Amino acid sequence: MSSRLASISVDLDSLGHYCRIQGLPESLLDERARSLVWATAIPRYLELFSMVGAPATFFVIASELADPRLAPALQTAARAGVELANHSFSHDYALSRRSRVEIEADLRQAHDAITSQTGVAPVGFRAPGYTLSSAMLQAVAALGYTYDSSTFPAAPYWLAKATVMKALSVLGRPSRAILDSPNVLLAPRVPYRPSLEAPYRRGDGPLLELPMAVTPLARVPFIGTFATSMPWPLVEATFRRLRHDRHLNFELHAIDVLDATDGIPEALARQQRDVGVPVREKLKRLRRLFTWMGDDRERVTLADAAQRLSGRLDG
Ligand SMILES: [Zn+2]
Repeated sequence: MSSRLASISVDLDSLGHYCRIQGLPESLLDERARSLVWATAIPRYLELFSMVGAPATFFVIASELADPRLAPALQTAARAGVELANHSFSHDYALSRRSRVEIEADLRQAHDAITSQTGVAPVGFRAPGYTLSSAMLQAVAALGYTYDSSTFPAAPYWLAKATVMKALSVLGRPSRAILDSPNVLLAPRVPYRPSLEAPYRRGDGPLLELPMAVTPLARVPFIGTFATSMPWPLVEATFRRLRHDRHLNFELHAIDVLDATDGIPEALARQQRDVGVPVREKLKRLRRLFTWMGDDRERVTLADAAQRLSGRLDG
């Protein structure tokens, strides 16, 4: 079996978080729009994973367990071999700027809620908005987690986010997102053992950092939204640029398997251009990519990837 690994992970952000990023009121969302994660996205992903025979990881925002219909959907996922991991309680985009004590309280609250409501204790974390800080990584380590997967060292993403946030603030519609330190652009793009003092640098922390996929040199992000909405020849070429990487960490969101006909409000669909791609096309593309990942890699959950890589990174 190949020693190279691929992991598929999905951040289960509900549409309310997209409203917050885009500076739109959450009152836009009706009951159907609020239910899309557990009622539509999770079942579509489970069908896709089972079709291609790949395991995956779901990052859960624990405050969303307030809807009692989410936990049973996650239990079904866990029984199908999906790892459940921690995506914070509040999904506060500014969480990384809070104190160590406040961050640890949020993460523990999430850990306890996910554990008690799904029966699965997470061992990994992904930061809201992919923004890490030393205090945040220390809080993740204090939970005894084996990995963090928040580093997204993508130059075009960072620049685009900076531009959009500036534009929204000029429009008087400030985004609730925050911009990460440009240090993230110098972070390793391969799995590394991070410093707890400077999470985007190598060090001797007790856990692994599993960065999300970006290409060598140009650091083009290879994530779900890119794969489902960019011209296919570009997607294929970008995928091939990653072929030598030891670990391909492919990150998606729940919204990547939804489209405008699922009941996403007009105002939000205008801002999130990728929801204009028909879901049939998105699923076809993802099925092809997930299959290719299995051609020359072993597909594993992020927890398994962390376990397999931890000995090798220190060697
Ligand atoms: Zn998120």
